[in-house]
Amino acid sequence: RTVYVNGEYLPEHEAKVSVFDRGFLMADGVYEVTSVLGGKLIDFEGHAKRLARSLSELQIRKPMEDEALLDIHRELVARNDIDEGLIYLQITRGAPNDRDFIFPPKDTEPTVVLFTQSKPGLADSPAARTGLKVISIPDIRWGRRDIKTVQLLYPSMGKMMAKAAGADDAWMVEEGAVTEGTSNNAYIVKGNTIVTRHLGNEILHGITRAAVLRFAREAQMQVEERAFTIEEAQDATEAFITSASTFVMPVVEIDGAQIGAGTPGRVASRLREIYIEESRKAAL
Ligand code: PLP
Repeated sequence: RTVYVNGEYLPEHEAKVSVFDRGFLMADGVYEVTSVLGGKLIDFEGHAKRLARSLSELQIRKPMEDEALLDIHRELVARNDIDEGLIYLQITRGAPNDRDFIFPPKDTEPTVVLFTQSKPGLADSPAARTGLKVISIPDIRWGRRDIKTVQLLYPSMGKMMAKAAGADDAWMVEEGAVTEGTSNNAYIVKGNTIVTRHLGNEILHGITRAAVLRFAREAQMQVEERAFTIEEAQDATEAFITSASTFVMPVVEIDGAQIGAGTPGRVASRLREIYIEESRKAAL
């Protein structure tokens, strides 16, 4: 695999970053994951915009313009011959020559790393036909989940807790309400209404979320952006998640309780179809 690091395209085993990199020592960095369908990027503009915001919130210098970022994404897709898959992009505050809590001097170059992950069958996923099982876990993450930082220890532990419980993922709960999934936004459907948590510092503002809600409204579906509980979710007619790597994925069980008929719901399945179809059309 060819990866990108700080201006160079290199075989993955030759790509290196410093042991003093702030991303490595302090999780001082941000990332984006953009999906690829038919060799094209899904919602690149959305990801570029959120990346700029994450960087700005953390006062990390934006290392290049969006056009240059797009070129790197495309170059990696071409060099690695990606038809369906993901592109991971990470920018950290860079590598000063020692460890220090104080931010390094302004002229420290951010570290930029991108690599591809080939995922044949991303669009025609078997999981979309059976649906996922989720468990609930407390949300003990920090208070700025709207910034897409590389601080993913708890989400990673959450997936392990789900796996240990025989489930696929975990929904996180704070003050009695679902915030989001470990790496996705969470939704329930009540009759004809789609309910998903309102935006704020408590959740990541999903790029897929924004697109799916737009498509839902265009298809005359009702959308309510508000908090909901696990009990309300267990009583819902449907549940699902969204993310760049799963698109729209039905959820059929929450903490052992079957949702609806225990099979992917009509709304989630329809939204998945619309999302994939429209995203393909608009892909770059
Ligand atoms: N919420 C969290 C915590 C995430 O990590 C992600 C994606 O990685 C999402 C939501 C979904 O965001 P997007 O649709 O932009 O992939």
